[in-house]
Amino acid sequence: MAKEPMLKFVSVGRDMPTKRDAEDRKDDFLEIYGEFVEAKAEEQASRCSQCGVPFCQAHCPLHNNIPDWLRLTATGRLKEAFELSQATNSFPEICGRICPQDRLCEGNCVIEQSGHGTVTIGSVEKYITDTAWEEGWVELIKPAVEREESVGIIGSGPGGLAAADRLRRAGLKVTVYERSDRAGGLMMYGIPGFKLEKDIVLRRAKQLEDSGVEFVLNCNVGEDISFDAIRGKHDAVLIATGVYKSRDLKGPGAGAEGIVKAIDYLTCSNKVGFGDDVEEYQNGELNAEGKKVVVIGGGDTAMDCVRTAIRQGATSVKCLYRRDRANMPGSQRETQNAEEEGVEFVWLSAPKGFVGDPVTGVMVQKMRLGAPDASGRQTPEVIEGADYVEEADLVIKALGFEPEDLPELWGVNDLEVTRWGTVMADFQTHATNLEGVYACGDIQRGASLVVWAIRDGREAADAMVAYLDQSAAVAAE
Ligand code: FAD
Ligand code: SF4
Ligand code: SF4
Repeated sequence: MAKEPMLKFVSVGRDMPTKRDAEDRKDDFLEIYGEFVEAKAEEQASRCSQCGVPFCQAHCPLHNNIPDWLRLTATGRLKEAFELSQATNSFPEICGRICPQDRLCEGNCVIEQSGHGTVTIGSVEKYITDTAWEEGWVELIKPAVEREESVGIIGSGPGGLAAADRLRRAGLKVTVYERSDRAGGLMMYGIPGFKLEKDIVLRRAKQLEDSGVEFVLNCNVGEDISFDAIRGKHDAVLIATGVYKSRDLKGPGAGAEGIVKAIDYLTCSNKVGFGDDVEEYQNGELNAEGKKVVVIGGGDTAMDCVRTAIRQGATSVKCLYRRDRANMPGSQRETQNAEEEGVEFVWLSAPKGFVGDPVTGVMVQKMRLGAPDASGRQTPEVIEGADYVEEADLVIKALGFEPEDLPELWGVNDLEVTRWGTVMADFQTHATNLEGVYACGDIQRGASLVVWAIRDGREAADAMVAYLDQSAAVAAE
């Protein structure tokens, strides 16, 4: 009988690719995790118990066929593993790097639940497609039939790019309109290089461009071209613009110099990483070097800001969060990485106001956790008389994002939005109330994750193809 290649979790322990030492990694913006070598990837994939009902797959937003590509990897059939993996995921090497696996696939792996340590699904997924790129298995898109219809996609984040990939495969002419100077959305200018190196995003954009997708960069829809003009040029349109309105802080001194938005700070840092000449970095406005930095917020954006400030050479970096560690929204893995790099977390602390202009400190209110609210989360309550001033000469606000007012900005009052300002669209077809107009990603679901934007983009693309098929059939009658 052939030797069973799988179910090795009893004898083989969980192992991640090597993580660079904190002292070494805090001087650069390169990714902190290394790559599996072939033998290690095979060994780790072989730990999977090949569940009949794979909870990992059920909790992956793309329903990736995880047990099958793990088995193919474990048995050395890597090209087939790649083909299977890319059948459900447009950018597996990106998800393998930045999905919060502890909350999705890996957190629900049954061998994790039984105390043996999860299969390192994300690292294997990354390994498979990184190898595919190295081996030349990732090919340009060659549609079986070229179609006459064209689609316009507004926004080149993961939602827009995943849709572009699928629509081009269906033979459609695809144009992506992007207000920024580089494609990729938050994968390019939000998420720092130490989580996702920019070459990984650029090669995907290039693959699409070389496959016939047209990119119109530096084109702000609503300003450089109207939404109606885009509708007039294309047979269907996808809105994939993300959410960019930063939640703000009130209180005395909130407008002082030296208090900046997380998205401006991270965008600037990513541009500097490309060698761009950014004035706000040169003049110190968005540069943490030599400064006492306080970041306000407890989500992934705050984690990215504190770790960027460390790399820019801040003298101290503190993160203020109004709840405790157990109740923070950011990933525990990223929090640990930040601590290793020298970030200090000041839990149960909320800003009440700011001192100085330019800012010299944050007035901090100490909090305790009270009774759980309707969602079950404990509500922070102020501890009277415990206020103090935290010294700071750069304060970064990382309190989350809301949608911009698209109907107002684009002069399309008939585009329906929800009471949160997100574009109202069907959650399966992603169709909005306007004929031939679809929406996906953060602008439809609110600030979320790359993997959800990819899923939405793929679903929206399929619905757009069905819509165009139907329109063509009606025209032919
Ligand atoms: P976006 O990625 O925001 O892309 C939208 C694009 O539309 C942008 O390029 C924008 O410039 C463009 N655009 C907007 N308006 C216009 C217009 N009028 N005309 C033309 N173009 C326009 N998710 C994870 O899964 N893992 C992480 O580790 C992670 N880290 C994050 C860190 C930060 C700092 C932030 C802010 C988010 C992070 N996220 C992470 C969330 C993730 O990046 C988003 O959920 C995802 O990028 C949403 O994709 P999208 O395509 O909907 O929008
Ligand atoms: Fe896990 Fe994300 Fe990959 Fe799905 S896409 S298997 S959630 S890492
Ligand atoms: Fe394998 Fe874990 Fe998925 Fe089960 S839940 S199929 S053990 S990866």
